Amino acid sequence: MSAAPGGGAPSRQVVVAGAGIAGLTAALAFAARGFSVQLYERAPALEEVGAGLQLSPNATRILRRLGVLDALVPAAVEPEAILLKRASSLATLARVPLGPAAERRWGAPYLVAHRADLQSALLARVARDPDIRLVLGAAVRDVACHARGVTVSLDHGGAVKEVGCRLLVAADGVWSELARRIRPPVACRFTGYTAWRAMLPAGGAADRALAGIRPADAVAAFLHRDFHLVAYPVRAGAATNLVAVTRGAQLSSQWANRMETAPLLAALAGAAEPLRRAVAAAGPWTAWPLFESDWRQPWTEPGGLALIGDAAHAMTPFAAQGAAMAIEDAALLAALVAESPDAVAPALARFEALRRPRLRRVVGRGAFNRFTWHAAGPIALGRDLVLRAMPAARLAADLDWLYGDDATAPADRR
Ligand SMILES: Cc1cc2nc3c(=O)[nH]c(=O)nc-3n(C[C@H](O)[C@H](O)[C@H](O)COP(=O)(O)OP(=O)(O)OC[C@H]3O[C@@H](n4cnc5c(N)ncnc54)[C@H](O)[C@@H]3O)c2cc1C
Repeated sequence: MSAAPGGGAPSRQVVVAGAGIAGLTAALAFAARGFSVQLYERAPALEEVGAGLQLSPNATRILRRLGVLDALVPAAVEPEAILLKRASSLATLARVPLGPAAERRWGAPYLVAHRADLQSALLARVARDPDIRLVLGAAVRDVACHARGVTVSLDHGGAVKEVGCRLLVAADGVWSELARRIRPPVACRFTGYTAWRAMLPAGGAADRALAGIRPADAVAAFLHRDFHLVAYPVRAGAATNLVAVTRGAQLSSQWANRMETAPLLAALAGAAEPLRRAVAAAGPWTAWPLFESDWRQPWTEPGGLALIGDAAHAMTPFAAQGAAMAIEDAALLAALVAESPDAVAPALARFEALRRPRLRRVVGRGAFNRFTWHAAGPIALGRDLVLRAMPAARLAADLDWLYGDDATAPADRR
């Protein structure tokens, strides 16, 4: 086995597998608490993959604390409101105020951004941190926990290497190889939903078609029995992100570029004509089969392994919280391990105990949104009546538990 990375005391050495949103945030969160971090990413280069992300205040609060927000804000947009609309008539059912109202209410901004812009802001901050070493083209293959810590096996350009540390943070995404160390490999399943994503240049034909049916500075969600579609600005307003979620057979094994849009247009048959026109003009579309894992499965091994982000609990985007939960996981895990770096097992047990109720509630919120957003007949009519009758302040208050939460508070307040 090679020496502990960084050469310092082994209890302050952490290895992170995967440089997605979860892994990059974990590296920053551990470094901020005095750890030396080796961050290994399987891909030889970090590419600009993905599309838009909504970053609610529970996530931006943590990003601000880690020094990431200053670089992200110029590329992001702070929308004025979330609008819920009926896709068949385009009638507005509800408006949740965001912008300065979100900052006042939840103590941090509600932002929408391109995933690549978030990744760039995280990477820029990682590059400035002398306690983080990012190694690309290095896949973490295995981990062995023993009395003095953990031995991580890597494949770096075909050469096998071993690294010692106190904790391995597995942030290796929905298809996590490292999760198999802790739980059965069948933990991840296709949900029956596909997300269709397109990025529209501002002022282009599709964007102009959308302009008449939603304000450019809002997150607009169009609800229908057969689909829902969300539109919001990204890239400092230079593009609009569209994501439509439809139900049906799995169209591809992983995400697929330039998809044939017939199934999407068929799902939109009941939408108002201007919305159908905008979607027909948009493209190219990428189709993402949506997978979820059972969040009740274990996330940690007491000897020194913790799964975070999609590796632990991949979820549908109905509550727009997958990345936010990854960011919260990273921040809380670092805070708890920093309290007792020589005794990782109790910190990992506490991590699971604190995160599980939150994940249960967030996954439940996603299931509730899925049910109500895709409702039909009398249930949809009841939904519309309730939403129309609810004052904006009540709609915002309903989100306090989610957006107002500070993930590290249980560790930091002791
Ligand atoms: C359609 C859609 C819309 C979404 N919208 C939102 C939203 O609005 N708001 C929100 O908060 N979330 C949203 N999400 C969820 C969010 O995108 C994910 O939850 C989040 O990106 C997961 O990040 P991650 O770092 O856990 O995983 P990933 O981004 O998958 O990163 C995993 C990384 O690990 C690397 N890796 C894999 N195996 C290894 C290995 N063995 N060794 C080293 N590296 C490895 C991979 O190459 C990759 O870079 C959405 C998701 C979808 C599909």
